[in-house]
Amino acid sequence: MPHLSCAMPKPIDPLPPIIAIPPPILRNASPCSFLGSAQLITMPLLLGLLLISLLRVPCSVATDTVSPGNGLVGGDSVLVSNNSKFALGFFKMDSKSPNTYLGIWFNKVPKSKFTPLWSANGESPVVDLASPELAISGDGNLAILDQITKTVIWSTRANTTVANGTVAVLLNNGNFVLRSSTNSSSVFWQSFDYPTDTLFAGAKIGWNKVTGLNRRLVSRKNSIDQAPGLYSLELETNGVGHLLWNSSVEYWSSGDWNGKYFGLAPEMIGAVMPNFNFVKNEEEAYFTYTLRDDTAIVHTAIDAFGQGLVGIWLNSSQDWLINYRQPVVRCDVYATCGPFTVCTDSAAPAICSCMKGFSVGSPKDWELGDRRHGCTRNAPLDCTSATNRTGFTDKFYTVQSVRLPQDGNKMQAVTSRDHCSQVCLGDCSCTAYSYGKGGCSVWHGKLYNVKQQYGASSDDGNGETLYIRLAAKELTSVATKSGAANGVAIGVAVGSSIAALSIMIVIGMLIWRRKGKRFTRTIENAQGGIGIVAFRYVDLQQATKNFSEKLGGGSFGSVFKGYLSDSATLAVKRLDGAHQGEKQFRAEVSSVGIIQHINLVRLVGFCCEGDHRLLVYEYMPNHSLDVHLFKRRDAVLDWNLRYHIAIGVARGLAYLHTGCRDCIIHCDIKPENILLDASFVPKIADFGMAKVLGREFSHAMTTMRGTIGYLAPEWISGTAVTSKVDVYSYGMVLFEIISGRKNSRPEYFSDGDYSSFFPMQAARKLLSGDIGSLVDADLRGDVNLEEVERVCKVACWCIQENEFTRPTMAEVVQVLEGLSELDMPPLPRLLNAVTGGSPVTNLTDV
Ligand code: ADP
Ligand code: MG
Repeated sequence: MPHLSCAMPKPIDPLPPIIAIPPPILRNASPCSFLGSAQLITMPLLLGLLLISLLRVPCSVATDTVSPGNGLVGGDSVLVSNNSKFALGFFKMDSKSPNTYLGIWFNKVPKSKFTPLWSANGESPVVDLASPELAISGDGNLAILDQITKTVIWSTRANTTVANGTVAVLLNNGNFVLRSSTNSSSVFWQSFDYPTDTLFAGAKIGWNKVTGLNRRLVSRKNSIDQAPGLYSLELETNGVGHLLWNSSVEYWSSGDWNGKYFGLAPEMIGAVMPNFNFVKNEEEAYFTYTLRDDTAIVHTAIDAFGQGLVGIWLNSSQDWLINYRQPVVRCDVYATCGPFTVCTDSAAPAICSCMKGFSVGSPKDWELGDRRHGCTRNAPLDCTSATNRTGFTDKFYTVQSVRLPQDGNKMQAVTSRDHCSQVCLGDCSCTAYSYGKGGCSVWHGKLYNVKQQYGASSDDGNGETLYIRLAAKELTSVATKSGAANGVAIGVAVGSSIAALSIMIVIGMLIWRRKGKRFTRTIENAQGGIGIVAFRYVDLQQATKNFSEKLGGGSFGSVFKGYLSDSATLAVKRLDGAHQGEKQFRAEVSSVGIIQHINLVRLVGFCCEGDHRLLVYEYMPNHSLDVHLFKRRDAVLDWNLRYHIAIGVARGLAYLHTGCRDCIIHCDIKPENILLDASFVPKIADFGMAKVLGREFSHAMTTMRGTIGYLAPEWISGTAVTSKVDVYSYGMVLFEIISGRKNSRPEYFSDGDYSSFFPMQAARKLLSGDIGSLVDADLRGDVNLEEVERVCKVACWCIQENEFTRPTMAEVVQVLEGLSELDMPPLPRLLNAVTGGSPVTNLTDV
């Protein structure tokens, strides 16, 4: 049996915390006078500002304008847009860094989550000692001056025709414009024309065909350096958007605009997304968006790792909620880990590790998330002997189950692996080869985009085998020393892949023996990018401090908190009871283990040693939904979050039912099994009851599973069930989200009077148009009634007795996102009868 060592991937690249030190929101201004647009500030805001100003700087107010002789100096001074949404000033991303930038940020996002939206001088930061000032210079341009040397660090360099007559104003949409002081429509320069990594609502990316100006988004170099990075989002004049690496390699394309969304990005529409639009006419071809609610704080950007994203600031959780990412997984961004690395998506954030025989090129940049240097070779290749033909001493290191780099050269004439390896050895610049389905391929120079895929066998849909050329001594040192040669996660991906692979094969064989073919097949079906790690029991025992911190438990086991040596937190589910445990274990690994979706909890790994059956998940710091709905002490989940959670769960279920190859029915949807991550993104958990059904067998299940209170009637009537049982349970959960109370409260059932059973009350009130009274009183009416009505309607349709009348989860998503409408639902007949006191007895638990 292979050595089942628990090679835990070391998450060496968490995003470093952004240490932002934006100045406070006040600007030193003329004593006690309210300048310019400040006069428009509404009373409460003004009072608030005054109050803060009394605490900070006497007699200061915010202004949105820089005018001649009235500049902005570093330190405390900032401009604030008239609506208080945006602030502009000098900032540092890290107190230890010497670099200061002039930029714009959301005024209401706190320091700890500081997010620059635009910076003027990313390439030429003001360094410590120079004390910067933003001022209107003599020629009417806006400039950053070093106050000591009086040198110009940055300037708008616009052709200002009205010297001495310009002002710069931070507008309500975040655009910083240099314009004539007398005529606001005479604009000489605007920040919207020079975007950095963020697309502001109302700004454009794309072309002004008349001036030739092409606006594109460019990632920042790393988490603290505002210099341009390697990734960009650009629009062709025909309207197709591209994500590019180094302005040359495309790694994502939007497809054509169809009037509503880009063909390859249908997720762009939906209630939680802004309204995107593509405009093309004689003068312009550009992409833009507007907000559904102007006060919403939405961040549309390209991050330092090359992923496009749309995030929404949630006041309730004081954090960003990322609604959209493209590419969905980071390992699909070109060169995201740099050369000679292996990218693993099984953990969040994705892990980059050096290939065996390589070490991190620039640890400082690497730590900050700038991976352009990737990894470099430890020992040089033996090219001399190769060219002299005196014998090749270089060897190949085998990496299994990987996605190969893209740009290999196919060697058509080569028909054996041996020959392929000789071809590579004979060419000094050859760094790797593969010999698989596509025959022999060799690579020259740097290797990019190798991604770990896990599966039962390599070369079988789950990646191929790559042979990496290394100096002979690297392989000897690898063989004799256990572990990495350079301390930077070398071989982690490879090691863990082998361990995971071996254990999967062992489990596969084990279950094959007991259960026939299905389980093994399921593993082989694993889609690209899903990697689960085989843990050793002792390591999990250690990680959980001998199972001491219990997070929760259900009928089949307990869940404990665990810590990996380097900050990653885990939830370890220990299954009890040999027989049931085995079943649960199998159900979970074969369902959530093979799929990946933002609304499904991610299975990081498992342990299957002797009688031990453990499942390892990413840790969800905000507990399960039931805690917030039913057991809250202080904080009430606001309506906005509840609505996001409802949509997220619907998306997760829609994916389970239709998005993956075989239909997966969860069978136990309830608030206890909906976990919330740090940003309150819901994740469906507990797949212990789940059933993976081949599409053709969607009616094959009759054994009862689930929890009373959420069970569809067909469970009870004993007929075969379909994914519509999840729809039913989901509907029941929606009612609980609305009311903040359990549907199955004992008072509903005391004395056999079910007339107040909430789902029926809701159904009746929906018909009578009185939904306001249904909502959780703790929300104190702070709800969007239109959304409440929508949720209530969906819920009533979901709990229809006849499964064919219930919508699919994909339809539910559409409705909740506002893309389609539902008619008024009929009263669920059976429930109506039950709650009307009719003697139908088998649903009295509901
Ligand atoms: P069971 O089959 O025993 O119901 P679950 O997977 O539902 O197991 O987990 C039980 C409880 O443990 C959950 O309701 C939740 O409170 C807690 N829990 C489970 N998984 C996690 C996780 N990944 N992060 C945080 N808490 C978790
Ligand atoms: Mg559970």
